[in-house]
Amino acid sequence: MKVTLYGVRGSIPTSSRDTVKYGGQTACLLVEVDDKLLVFDAGTGIRQLGNDIIADDRDIHLFFSHYHWDHIQGFPFFKPAYQCGRNIHLRSAYLPKENAKAVLDQMVNPHFPVPGDKIQAKVRVMPMDSAGNLQLGKVKITTCALNHPGGGAAYKVETEQGSFAYVTDNELSPPNEPTTSWTQWVDFLQGVDLLVHDAMYLDEEQKSTHGWGHSLISQAMKLAKDAKVANLVLFHHDPDRTDEQLEGILEDCEKWVNDNDVAYTVRLAKETDVYHILNSTVNLNY
Ligand SMILES: [Zn+2]
Ligand SMILES: [Zn+2]
Repeated sequence: MKVTLYGVRGSIPTSSRDTVKYGGQTACLLVEVDDKLLVFDAGTGIRQLGNDIIADDRDIHLFFSHYHWDHIQGFPFFKPAYQCGRNIHLRSAYLPKENAKAVLDQMVNPHFPVPGDKIQAKVRVMPMDSAGNLQLGKVKITTCALNHPGGGAAYKVETEQGSFAYVTDNELSPPNEPTTSWTQWVDFLQGVDLLVHDAMYLDEEQKSTHGWGHSLISQAMKLAKDAKVANLVLFHHDPDRTDEQLEGILEDCEKWVNDNDVAYTVRLAKETDVYHILNSTVNLNY
C-alpha cells in the first residue's frame, strides 16, 4: 500500500515562503492499494494528483471526509474529470445523501464556467454498505463518524499489507457529547500501522477554538498512544502555522514520545511525502 500526501493544510490554501516546506494545498491523499486508486478528499491538492494520474485509466474511488470547502475545492481543476471514458466513484458516510454530489454542485454559475453536469468523466455516487463500510477486491474499508460540525467520516483501509487510517476534521474532546467517544476511537484505530490525524491546534489555542471540530496536537498524540498505532502523521495544519513553528511543534512531540515511553513514530504531514506500507512496516520516501 502506498499513501501519497497531495494536500496537508486545513481550511484554506496558503502560499508563502513560510509554508513552502510542508505545503499549502488543502486536504487530498492518494492511496494505491491492490491495483486500486483511492483518493481521500478533493482539496486543492487534487489538482496535482490529477496531473500525476492522467495517463492511468483505472477507475478513481473518491472518498470524502465531508464537504467543507477545503475538502472539495480542488475538484474543478482535477483533469481526470474532463476525460471521456474515465469513471469516478464518489463515496461518503455519515453525511446527507442530498449533498453526495457536492464536488459537482460547486461547479455552478457564477462561481465556475463549466457546470458540474457537463464534465466528460462518468461521475457516479456509489454506496457504502449498510454499516458504512466497503469491500473493494481484497481491500477492506471501514468508517467511523467524525466529531465535526455537519458530521463526516473517518476511513480505515486494511489489506494483507497493513493498515492505514485517515481521520481529519475530528475533535477528540468536543465541548458537547461526542458522536464518537475517545474509547470508540481507540477501538477503531487499534494497532493501525499508519494514522493520519487532524492536529490543528495547540493546547493554548483551545480556548478560542473549542467546538470548531478540530483536535489539539496533544490529543492526537495521546490517542495514537492509547490506540497503539505504529506511525502518527499530524495533519490539517493551521493555515497560519509556519514551517518553523511546525518544526518546533514536532520537536515538542518527539520529546513527549521519549518522555512517555511511547512506541510510535510521529511526523508532520508534508506535501509530496510518500508512505509505503508493506508487511505492516511503514517507510517514508524510499
Ligand atoms: Zn478541513
Ligand atoms: Zn471541516
